Amino acid sequence: MKAIRRFTVRTVLPASLSALDELAANLRWSWHEPTRRLFAEIDPQIWQSIAGDPVALLGAVSPARLEALAGDADFVARANALRDDLATYSSEPRWYQSLSDAPAHIAYFSPEFGIAAALPQYSGGLGILAGDHLKSASDLGLPLTGIGLFYRSGYFKQSISADGWQQEAYPVLDPDGLPLTLTRHADGAPALVSLALPHGRTLHARIWQVVVGRVTLLLLDTDIPENEDALRDVTDRLYGGGGEHRLLQEVLLGIGGVRALRIWTELTGRPEAEVFHTNEGHAGFQGLERISTLIHDGLTFAEALQVVRAGTVFTTHTPVPAGIDRFDKGLVQQYFSGELLPGVDVWEVLALGTENYPGGSDDVFNMAVMGLRLGQHANGVSQLHGEVSRGMFNGLWPGFDSSDVPITSVTNGVHAPTWTDPQLLELSQRKLGTSDTTAADWAGPGVSDAELWAVRNRMRANLVADARRRVTAAWHEENPGASAPAWFDELLDPEVLTIGFARRVPTYKRLTLMLEDEARLTALLTHKKRPIQIVIAGKSHPADEEGKRLIQKLVRFTQDPEVRRRIVFLPNYDIAMAQVLYPGTDVWLNNPLRPLEACGTSGMKAALNGVLNLSILDGWWNEYYDGEDGWAIPSADAAGDAAERDKLEAEAMYDLIENQIAPRFYRRDSNGVPTRWMANVRHTLASLSPELSADRMVREYVTRLYTPAAKAAEAITAGDYAGGRELAAWKGVVSGAWSGVSVVHVESGGLARVPQVGDRLHVRAQVQLGSLKPEDVAVEVVYGTSREGDDLVNTATVELAPLEDDAVATTTGAIVLDGSHTFAGTVTLSRPGSFGYNVRVVPKNEYLANPAEMGLVSVAH
Ligand SMILES: *Cc1c(COP(=O)(O)O)cnc(C)c1O
Repeated sequence: MKAIRRFTVRTVLPASLSALDELAANLRWSWHEPTRRLFAEIDPQIWQSIAGDPVALLGAVSPARLEALAGDADFVARANALRDDLATYSSEPRWYQSLSDAPAHIAYFSPEFGIAAALPQYSGGLGILAGDHLKSASDLGLPLTGIGLFYRSGYFKQSISADGWQQEAYPVLDPDGLPLTLTRHADGAPALVSLALPHGRTLHARIWQVVVGRVTLLLLDTDIPENEDALRDVTDRLYGGGGEHRLLQEVLLGIGGVRALRIWTELTGRPEAEVFHTNEGHAGFQGLERISTLIHDGLTFAEALQVVRAGTVFTTHTPVPAGIDRFDKGLVQQYFSGELLPGVDVWEVLALGTENYPGGSDDVFNMAVMGLRLGQHANGVSQLHGEVSRGMFNGLWPGFDSSDVPITSVTNGVHAPTWTDPQLLELSQRKLGTSDTTAADWAGPGVSDAELWAVRNRMRANLVADARRRVTAAWHEENPGASAPAWFDELLDPEVLTIGFARRVPTYKRLTLMLEDEARLTALLTHKKRPIQIVIAGKSHPADEEGKRLIQKLVRFTQDPEVRRRIVFLPNYDIAMAQVLYPGTDVWLNNPLRPLEACGTSGMKAALNGVLNLSILDGWWNEYYDGEDGWAIPSADAAGDAAERDKLEAEAMYDLIENQIAPRFYRRDSNGVPTRWMANVRHTLASLSPELSADRMVREYVTRLYTPAAKAAEAITAGDYAGGRELAAWKGVVSGAWSGVSVVHVESGGLARVPQVGDRLHVRAQVQLGSLKPEDVAVEVVYGTSREGDDLVNTATVELAPLEDDAVATTTGAIVLDGSHTFAGTVTLSRPGSFGYNVRVVPKNEYLANPAEMGLVSVAH
C-alpha cells in the first residue's frame, strides 16, 4: 500500500547543537561548502544516501551519534562558527548596498525554482535558473523576494523500464521534512490568501517560506483543509495538468502571489515591492492583481495599466511555441468575469492576451503576449534569443522593423558556488588563493597543467563511480532481490574521453542526433586507441510520447553488449546528478535545432568546471565560442529538409570528435598530461567563468532593468499617480489621432557631389500631425547601411527638431498643408559604404521607455 502522506519525525537536537538547526533551515548550505562538509561529517554514509539534505540527515541520524557530537567541543565550536558566519553573511553590506539608486524591494515570480535536490520544485533549465537567480541575488545583497508554488509531488521521478520506456512516479513531499516555515499572523494563525473562483467557489492557499541565504522565497500551497477536495490538488504537480488545472495554478501564482507578498511584506515590515520580475509568462496575472488594487485606489484600468507596466520586467525564455502558455479564451473569460479581480473588466483582461496580429489565433489567450503588454521592460536570455524574440513578437509592434522591437537581452548565467566541483574549489583555494573560482587566475602559473589535470581526472573518476552506483541502484529497484550484472563494475572507464549530454527531451534538443549513424558512433565508442564514452540523462515531459520514444531509442542502443560499457543513460536527471555529471565530463555536447535553444545553461555549468563545449552555435554558445573554449558544430541551414539537416550536422559532430577532439585529448606529454587540451581548459576557466556567472547576470538585471523599472514606476506613481493618469490620457489622444499622422515630404541636401565620411547631411521633413502637437511626436531620421532590397541594417536614429515658425518654411517654397509641420536636422556620415535613410514619426512622451512602445509609427514612402 502506498502512503498518501508522509512526514519525518525529528530527533530533538541536544541544546549544544542548536546551530545545526539554524544551518539546516537556511538553504545557503546548498552552495556553502564548509557547511556541507560539516553536515557530511555527522554521518557520511547517510549524507551520501540522501543526496546531501541536512533536514533529512538530522531526521535520520541516530540519537547516540548526536549525543556524541554534542559532547565534541571541536565540532560544536565549528558548528557555532558557521552559524555566526551565516549571520554575518546575512547582514553585512554587499555589492547592492554600494548602489545609490537601486530599488528597495524586487519581487521575482517563477513557476519553478531549482535550488537544491532536496527541494524538487523544478523541471529543468527555467527552474534552475530561477534558483541560481535567487542565490546570486543573495550573494550580491539584493532585497529580492521569490514567489512560486509548492508542488506536493514536485516534478516526477523518472525510472526506465527494461524495454527503455520512461516511467513516472510522483512521490509525495512532506513539507515538515523540508526546510520550509509556515507564514503566520502575529496571533499564530497561518496566513492564507483567498481567490474567488467561478460558481462561488474559493481557492485558499497557505504560504511557505524558504530562506535562501539573504533572500526569502514564498511558495503557495493549496493542500489545506480550507479547500474543497478538488481545489486541494491545484498545487499537486509541476506542469502536470493542462487547460483549467494549469490556469488555476497560474491564477494562484500571479494573483495569489501578489497577495501573499503583500501579507508577508506587511508582517515583516519590509518596503513594498517596486519592481515585479516575471520569469516567463506563467506568472503574468500578477500584473492584473496590481491593476485591481490601483483601480480600488481610484485609477481607471488604462491609468493603472501604465503604472503597472512601468515597474514590470518580463523575461521570455523560449522561442518554441509549445513552451508558451496559451489558454482557451472562453475559459479565461469565465474566470475573470466574477469576483476574482474586483474592479477589473473581463474584456480588458482578454484584450491583453489577444493574438491580434497576422498568424495569431482568435480564440486563445496568450500568456507571453500578455506578459509583454504588462511589462514596459522585456528581455530574452541570450543575444541571439533577444534577436529571435524581436522577430517572433514583431506582430505586437506592427510597422516597426524587428530590430526596433522593445525586447532586449540579458544572457543567462549560473551560480558558480553551486555548480563548481568542491575539488576545483579546493585547488583554487590552495594554489590560487581564492574561494571565488570565477575570479581565480586559471591562466597563470599558480597552478600547473599536471595539478589541474589531476583534479579533472578525479572529477571524471567521481562521475564513473556515481554512474555505476546509479545504474546498480536502478537495476535493484526494477529487479528486487536479484544480484546486478557483473559488467556494471566495468561501466565507463575513468581514463576515457567522456562526453556528457543531459537536458530535458523536447524534440528540438535532438537527444538522438548522436544515433544518426550508429555504425560511426559505435566506431568512436570502441576505437582501439582513442575511445570515447558518453553519459546521457534527461526527462521527457510525461505527456510527450515523442520524447519518450527518443529516450527508448537511445536506451536500446546503450543496451547493445558491444557498446554498453561506453554509453549509458542515467535515470532521473536532477540537481544532485548534475553536480557530479558536469564536472566529470571532458566535453559537453549540445545539439539543438538552431535557433530554438534560447540560452542553454548546462554547458555553462560544465565550462565552470573546465569542461570544453561541443555545441551548435545556438543560445549562449553563439556569443561565447571563441575557437579555444571548445568546438562549434556548424548548422546546416541550407539543408533541404529536417532529415538532411540532422544528417549533415551529425556528420560534422562525428568529424569533430574523431579528427580534433579525441586526438587532442589523447595527445600526452612525457608525464601523461594532454598539454594542448589543458590550454583549452585553462582558457575556458579563465575567460568564461566570470562571464557565465549568475552574478554577472543579476548585476545586469539590476542596472539595465530593475533600476530603470523602479525609476519609471516612481516617476509615474508620484503625486497620486499624476504621471499614470497623464500618460493614459495622452496615449488615448495619440492613438485616436494617429491615423492623421504622415510624412508628407522629405528633402536632403548639404552634401558635396561625392559624399565622404564626415560630411553632414541636412534633412528636412514635412509631416502632417492632424490634431497632434509637435511635442507629441519625435520625427526621426533612421539611417544605416543600405542593402539590396533597400533594407536598412545597423541603423541609428537622429531626431529632427521642429522649426519654430512654419511660416518660414512657406516662404522657402515648401508646401504647407493644414496641420503640417517642418522638422529639420543633420546626420553625420560616419561610415564608408552604401548609405540609406528614411524618416519616421513616432509618439514621444517622457514616460515612454522606448519609441516603439505603443506600436505606432508613420514612415515616409
Ligand atoms: C542546468 C540544468 C538544466 C538545463 O540545462 P539546459 O542545457 O539549459 O537544457 C536542466 N536540468 C538540470 C538538472 C540542470 O541542472
